[in-house]
Parts: sequence; structure tokens; C-alpha cells
Amino acid sequence: MDLAFTPEEQKFADEVRAFVRANLPADVRDKVKNGKHLIRDDYMRWQQALGKKGWLVYTWPKKHGGPGFTPAQRYIFENICAEEYAPGIIPFGTKMVGPVIYTFGTEAQKEKYLPAIRESTVWWCQGYSEPGSGSDLASLRTKAEKDGDHYIVNGSKTWNTMGHWADWIFCLVRTDSKSKPQEGISFLLIDMKTPGITVKPIIMADGGHEVNEVFFDNVRVPVENLVGKENEGWTCAKFLLANERLGIAAVPQSKRGVEALKDIARVEQDNGRPLIENQSFAEKIADLEIQVTALEFTELRVLSQMAQGGQPGAEVSGLKIRGSEIQQRITELTLEAVGEYSAPYLPGLLWQGTNEEPVGPDYAHLAAPRYFNTRKTTIYGGSNEIQKGIISKMVLGL
Ligand SMILES: Cc1cc2nc3c(=O)[nH]c(=O)nc-3n(C[C@H](O)[C@H](O)[C@H](O)COP(=O)(O)OP(=O)(O)OC[C@H]3O[C@@H](n4cnc5c(N)ncnc54)[C@H](O)[C@@H]3O)c2cc1C
Repeated sequence: MDLAFTPEEQKFADEVRAFVRANLPADVRDKVKNGKHLIRDDYMRWQQALGKKGWLVYTWPKKHGGPGFTPAQRYIFENICAEEYAPGIIPFGTKMVGPVIYTFGTEAQKEKYLPAIRESTVWWCQGYSEPGSGSDLASLRTKAEKDGDHYIVNGSKTWNTMGHWADWIFCLVRTDSKSKPQEGISFLLIDMKTPGITVKPIIMADGGHEVNEVFFDNVRVPVENLVGKENEGWTCAKFLLANERLGIAAVPQSKRGVEALKDIARVEQDNGRPLIENQSFAEKIADLEIQVTALEFTELRVLSQMAQGGQPGAEVSGLKIRGSEIQQRITELTLEAVGEYSAPYLPGLLWQGTNEEPVGPDYAHLAAPRYFNTRKTTIYGGSNEIQKGIISKMVLGL
């Protein structure tokens, strides 16, 4: 593995940094830097700027309208965006359904859906999980029955991220309940404005509205919205999950998180000295930094294999486990650094339009909400226990 970037890659890094500095709206940068919640429009403005440049779908090959970045360029692009406090790109269109459509969809579907994903004019959400069907996804029960040139969809989805902002949802639905669970599933694209769809919020542990339940009551979906063949949606589902796990380690965001933690530890005092000079706390930060560096090198190893034409395997599960644990650890140490000033719950400060004054330093009120919110990372994208199961089978042969 060659870790040194070439002169062309250095030039590319300069181009990315200049672009982000010129095009990331200042108010959005500010919100990301200060850990505030973003609204739909914040994401859209940044994504549309990237879309105009052709970089929003930065993982797509050229033949589908992507920039055809090499793995090294992907790495550079992701790191610089994080360093410059750009919001994470919402993956549902760009990294999930878009690649499914260009891999399994018809020409008409590619023409209809891909441009709006590349330009970020349509917001997608993911309808996989159901009550009782999360880890055991193939047991899902939301039913789609044929009625002429439509499917009639009935059932519910849960833990649906940002569906309250979405224009479209991609859903796994059961089209055959007699065959084996995986064989009776289909992949459907559904317009969220279709009559019979209800979205109900699930409030997260930090008090924020990020996920939803989605109910389908006799929802009529044209058969032309089926991607791939009927009853063969599990192939699309698995392809999408592998893509989902690849980017989930969030290394650039964790590097940014460690720097923010160190900044806090330089300001916070312990017996009249900066907390960062407390040996026990400094050791905890050092341990965290070593873990982040090890994770980054593992990710680079996967990217290096991909650059030579390899496909990511069970390493992706390892990246997901360690990446999610690191994200949680950063919030734990931040909470420890901030101490009692993290206790007041000031939800208004996380959102727009409040004149509440923070109690304690500016960064303190974010520590607890972030800590609670980040409990999600070891669950979503396939829980860490499930990833360990994959490693035990594929790597250890158990
Ligand atoms: C914040 C958040 C956002 C999400 N966004 C979306 C979304 O947009 N769209 C979507 O479709 N889904 C989404 N999910 C759902 C997510 O994919 C599921 O929560 C996840 O797959 C786990 O399923 P479950 O919640 O049903 O838990 P369960 O499957 O019921 O698992 C419960 C516990 O049992 C453990 N467990 C289960 N089976 C095994 C096993 N075989 N071996 C060992 N341990 C096991 C699990 O690890 C877990 O700890 C989101 C979840 C969260 C928390």
C-alpha cells in the first residue's frame, strides 16, 4: 500500500478545498462547526452546490454521471469536506438508491430518477426496517399486491431517517408470502405524496426529530416503479447494504471530533491546570487517537484493495464496528471533559430561533445531546452484533 499522495492528488486536494471554501454557505458551516441541528434547506443548498460541480454523487462512475473519482480522490474529498465543516451528504439517494437504480433499473428509471439525485432536487428516504424486522430484515411483512398496473401497498416501516423531509421512499415489500422469506421480496420506489402514506415522528434520546414511523394504507404504486424483477428485490437489498456500510465508519468526522475534544480539554481546568495535562485524561485521548489512526489505516487498506480492482468484504463490518464505537467514545470523553455543565438540557440552543443563554461555556450544552444521540451508531446500518456475526462466519469460518 502506497500512502503518499501523488502530485496530481495534491493538486486535486487543493481544488477540493478551494471549492468547499467558496461554495459551502457560511451559515451552514457555522451550524456544523457548532454542532447545531441542520434543517432540510441547509443540506439542500450544500448538496445542490456539489451537484452543480458534479461532485455530489462522488462515488458514482462516469458512465452514470458521476465524477469517476479514484479511491484516493474519494478519501481526499471526504476528509477535506469534514475538515472544512461541510455537512455529511445524505446517503439515501446518492449512495443507496442511486447505485441500485443504475445497476438494476430500466433505462426509463435511470432517465427519470438519476438526474434529480445527481442534482439534489429530490430527497429520498429508506424503507427497510419494520417493527420486528430489523436485524432479521427478510421477515418483513409490508405487503404489495398486484391490481392491474398498480401494486397496493399495506403495512408499516420504522426507524425511517428524515422521511418527514423526503419526496420519495425506496421500500422493500413482500410480493410473495408462500416462498422462502428472501425470495418473496421486491424493491419499490414510492412517491411520498401518494394518498394513504402517513409519517409519524419518533423522538430521539436527545429530544430531536430525526426518525419516523411510516404507515401505508392501500397505497397505489405504479408497477413501473418496481426496480429489478418481482420477488428478486433481496439482491438489490444486499447490494445497497454493502454500499451503506462502506461509508459508515465516519473516519473524517471522528478526526474532527477528536480535535474538538482536545480543544475543550485545553480550556477546561483540572486543579488549576488544563485538563489535557491531566495524565489520566491525556492517556484516554491518546488511546482514542491511536484507535482513529488505526481505523483510518484500515480504511485506506480497503480503498487500496479497491483501487486494484478488489471488492470490499468482511473488512467493511470491521470498519462499521470500530468506527461506531469510536464515535461513541468521543462523545463519552467530551461529556467527561465538560462535567457538570453538560447537565442543563437546553434544546432551544440546538435549533434555530431561540434567545436562551447557555449555562456554562458554549460547547457544554451540546455534550449530553450528542452523547445520547450517538448511541444510535452501534445500531443502525446493521447492529454491531450482526457485524460481529458476519466476521465470525466470513473471516473466522465459525
Ligand atoms: C437512528 C436510527 C436510524 C435508522 N434509520 C433507518 C432508516 O432510515 N431506514 C431503515 O430501514 N432502517 C433504519 N434504521 C433501522 C436499523 O437498521 C435497525 O434498527 C437495525 O437493523 C437493528 O434492528 P432492530 O432495531 O429491529 O433491532 P433487533 O433486530 O430487534 O435487535 C435487537 C438487539 O438484538 C441483537 N440481535 C438481533 N439479532 C441478533 C443475532 N442474530 N445475533 C446477535 N445479536 C442479535 C441486535 O444486535 C440488537 O442489539 C435506523 C435505526 C436507528 C437507530
